[in-house]
Amino acid sequence: MIHRRKLKPETQGIGMTSQRTRNRLVERLRSKGISDERVLKAISTIPRHEFVDEALSSRAYEDTALPIGLSQTISQPWVVARMTEAILDGGTPQKVLEVGTGSGYQAAVLACLVSQVFTVERIEELLKLARRRFHKLGLNNIFTRYADGHLGWPSQAPFDGIIVTAASIGVPAELIQQLRIGGVLVVPVEKGGIQRLMAIRRTEEGVDEEDLGGVIFVPMLSGLS
Ligand code: SAH
Repeated sequence: MIHRRKLKPETQGIGMTSQRTRNRLVERLRSKGISDERVLKAISTIPRHEFVDEALSSRAYEDTALPIGLSQTISQPWVVARMTEAILDGGTPQKVLEVGTGSGYQAAVLACLVSQVFTVERIEELLKLARRRFHKLGLNNIFTRYADGHLGWPSQAPFDGIIVTAASIGVPAELIQQLRIGGVLVVPVEKGGIQRLMAIRRTEEGVDEEDLGGVIFVPMLSGLS
């Protein structure tokens, strides 16, 4: 089941932030190989300009990562789309965990597609801003937590899917354990200075891994900030 969210009219945007500009981004993503219509619909729905500083809003619908302060970035739309496709692959997850809330954009896209999104961030200042955005857009199926995401969100486990939006050295074992059998963990894994986006499906016997290609993410760090 797809959860369509009706956004408040004042967030629709004009000119460089209009629905038309958003639709152009969707067409660009389609031409770059994103084919899941559910994902494209979610990207056309969520106003990305609401997730960046106002000074950057005219660039919000370019297919690039942008700075969000505190040395962090909002992910490139293509990467958000690709990770979301991987999470939806082979089913309709209800409960998804995201590690690395950042601006909140990835969580907002997920919130259009699944019943409940749980998102964890280690930088309190970013989390506060993200919460404000979720509230403004009426995205009340996103639950946030200020914590080190290496530990996941044990009391809410198991999850049907988990997205990690920061590069991890190796696959965090706790996260695999918090995945339902058949669920997918999508995580950028760093090895020798190179990051690969991995889709790891938990099976009865262990895990199945798929390499989705090269990516560039900020590093996953430990502790709180
Ligand atoms: N999903 C975000 C991308 C943010 S960039 C978006 O759509 O905007 C990655 C984020 O991961 C940063 O905000 C960073 O602080 C956070 N992060 C890094 N290590 C983390 C950890 N161990 N636990 C939780 N969040 C972490």
